[in-house]
Amino acid sequence: MRTDTRFSFSDIVAKANDAVVVAKAATGKSAKPKIIYVNAAFCRLSGYSEQEAVGKAPWFLDGPDTDAEARTKVEDAVKAGRHMRTRLLQYAKDGSPYWVDVNIMPLFDSDGEITHVAAIQRDVTEDVKREEELLSLATTDDLTGAKNRRHFMERAELEVHRLRRHRVPFSVALLDLDHFKLVNDTHGHQAGDDVLKEAVRRWQLGRRPFDTLGRLGGEEFAILLPGADAEAAMTVAERLRAVIADAPFDTIAGPIDVTVSIGIAEAEDTDQTIEGTLGRADAALYLSKHAGRNRVTKASPIPIAKRKTAGKKG
Ligand code: GH3
Ligand code: MG
Ligand code: MG
Repeated sequence: MRTDTRFSFSDIVAKANDAVVVAKAATGKSAKPKIIYVNAAFCRLSGYSEQEAVGKAPWFLDGPDTDAEARTKVEDAVKAGRHMRTRLLQYAKDGSPYWVDVNIMPLFDSDGEITHVAAIQRDVTEDVKREEELLSLATTDDLTGAKNRRHFMERAELEVHRLRRHRVPFSVALLDLDHFKLVNDTHGHQAGDDVLKEAVRRWQLGRRPFDTLGRLGGEEFAILLPGADAEAAMTVAERLRAVIADAPFDTIAGPIDVTVSIGIAEAEDTDQTIEGTLGRADAALYLSKHAGRNRVTKASPIPIAKRKTAGKKG
């Protein structure tokens, strides 16, 4: 079949809406791949001119939050002469990050050697933002902004896994507002809602980024403390208790004094699921309530006898 060649492929590439980058493949052991062509869409997207981009390494737009694993997969695919499609976070000349869906194609000469690598990149920043928003909606409690029960449980199960696999300790704290029914009954449901929101706001302020605060239901919350043993969890929990009791809550019905009772438990390697750990934290919380509320109680460790029986399974 004869191909009609009264058009120019390079015109199409130059004017395409997607960014196109072509790099000369690395030759020999020491040489590095170098960009030899970028189209106008690439310059618009990245903010770099053609002169600035040409001669650079193909990964020169990677930055602090670019997924190193994704980048390694790209490099491995290129070395193996495979096609590859992935999402990468890139950084424009002004430092602003953007997401691209990148399609990477090794190009071969007649001997089957890779001579060049072409990449077609589409800006998917808006898609990624929308996906993140949807994910955040699906994992967040509407009223308070804490994580919802389902998400908390999923995160907690991951920690159970990490403990079993890599011996990384973690603890959970269960938090239940004291006499909360009375707050509703005395000041109204709206004031009750204000208290829930403010409690979460106070807890979120001092939260370490990798700790997960979840609303398990009603006025019951939990915080997952990766890496924390029982002693560390006691310190955190005491802070969570104090931050509630220390100052009255501003609500639609005026200032209200609020306290919280807390039970903490460190996960044991005999805990098969998170339910075991939560069960012991719940028992400790019950003790806090019965000892007069506004306090933290640590779950007692699993008796040695039970530990041994459970240990034999693994
Ligand atoms: P205790 O100190 O033993 O925990 O007593 P309590 O009154 O806090 O315990 P209880 O579990 O009996 O009461 C929980 C109350 O929380 C009952 C329910 O009306 C209220 N509640 C649950 N969810 C919400 C909510 O979203 N908003 C408001 N305002 N109240 C809620
Ligand atoms: Mg309750
Ligand atoms: Mg309560």
